[in-house]
Amino acid sequence: MSGAVRLVLLGPPGAGKGTQAVLVAQHRGIPHISTGDILRSAVAAGSELGKKVKSILDSGNLVPDEVVIGLIRERLAKSDCERGFLLDGFPRTVDQAKALTALLKDIGRELSHVLDISVPENVLIDRIRSRGAQGSGRADDTGEVAANRLKVYWEQTAPVTSYYNQIGRVIKIDGLGTIDEVQARIGKALD
Ligand code: ADP
Repeated sequence: MSGAVRLVLLGPPGAGKGTQAVLVAQHRGIPHISTGDILRSAVAAGSELGKKVKSILDSGNLVPDEVVIGLIRERLAKSDCERGFLLDGFPRTVDQAKALTALLKDIGRELSHVLDISVPENVLIDRIRSRGAQGSGRADDTGEVAANRLKVYWEQTAPVTSYYNQIGRVIKIDGLGTIDEVQARIGKALD
C-alpha cells in the first residue's frame, strides 16, 4: 500500500479546496471525500441526518464532531479507500484530526500528505461573495453566514494546521493564480 495517496486538504473557505480536490482525485484515481458534500446531500435528501444538520449548515457553524467523525469512519471503511483517498473539509477541529489519526492507526495506516492551501483573507472574502452573487446555490455563501464561516475557520480549524505541523509536515500551497497553476503546485507537492 505504500505509494498510495492518503491526503488531507486544508484551507479556509474560498481557498479553492473543493475545485482542486475534484481535480486531484480524478487525476490520482482516488475517492474525493467532502464532508460538506455529504452533509449537503443529506439535507437535500431530507434524511434524518439532513434534518439534524440543516440549521447548522445554514448558520455556517460546525456540525458536532461525533457526527462527522462517524460519517468519515463509515466512508473510510469502504473498499475504494484502500487505494488512497482525499479528504476535503475534514478534519475541521483538532478533535476531529486526533480522531482521524486514531482511526487510521486502527487499520495500520497513516496520512501520506497534508496540504494547506493559503490565500490572503481579503481575497477569500471577495471570492466567497462573488460565488454567492453568481448563484452558487449554496445558502451559506452570502453575507453574514460567509463571514461566520471564516470566523469559525480561524477559531476552530486553523489550529488543525498546527496539530499536523506537530506530528508531521504540512506542505503550504499558494492558492493565488489560475486553477491550473494551483493544481500544478499540488501535483508537485504530491510527487
Ligand atoms: P467550505 O469548503 O466552503 O469550507 P464545506 O462544503 O466544506 O465548506 O462545508 C460546508 C458546511 O458543512 C460547514 O460550514 C459546516 O457547517 C459543515 N461541515 C462540513 N465539514 C464539517 C466538519 N468536518 N465538521 C463540522 N462541520 C462540517
